[in-house]
Amino acid sequence: MLIQLSDILLHDGKQLQQEVPVEMDSIKSRLGEFKIVEKSPLVLTITNVGDQKLEIEGVVRLTVSIPCDRCLEEVPTVFDLRIQRKLDMKQSEEDRIKDLDESNFITQTELDVDQLVYNEVLIEWPLKVLCKEDCKGICSQCGANLNFGTCSCEHEERLDPRMAAISDIFSKFKEV
Ligand SMILES: [Zn+2]
Ligand SMILES: [Zn+2]
Repeated sequence: MLIQLSDILLHDGKQLQQEVPVEMDSIKSRLGEFKIVEKSPLVLTITNVGDQKLEIEGVVRLTVSIPCDRCLEEVPTVFDLRIQRKLDMKQSEEDRIKDLDESNFITQTELDVDQLVYNEVLIEWPLKVLCKEDCKGICSQCGANLNFGTCSCEHEERLDPRMAAISDIFSKFKEV
């Protein structure tokens, strides 16, 4: 959803508060596409602090389904986001992107709510997702989920935790 900013930019000190629905149903990134299984509306506050500067605050909660790094079971992962941004509308679009170091959620005088939330989700993206701390992962030979029992493959020896950490790193590389 796009929020029009031209009106608030005309009035120093003006504040706008509203609940805005998050429209996207998934998070697409270079890691893949992840379904949003639950979402609250974004409670958005925009304040014109004068001199064509805006303060943007937002609170939103999303639950994203992310596969476990070891066994690939989907893990509902909660993002409790508190967004805080300062924008100088006098800047050119190009300078703003450089400053924020992220894709732009403002186009001319419109705020793209999904883009704002999306950026924040990526910032908060967990380095590691496990269905449980001691997830046993999947058998490298038959693909069986070893949390649900053993398979009949020959295993040389159990992976020690250090090895498990290394194999997590390798599986991350494969995803990128
Ligand atoms: Zn797992
Ligand atoms: Zn197996």
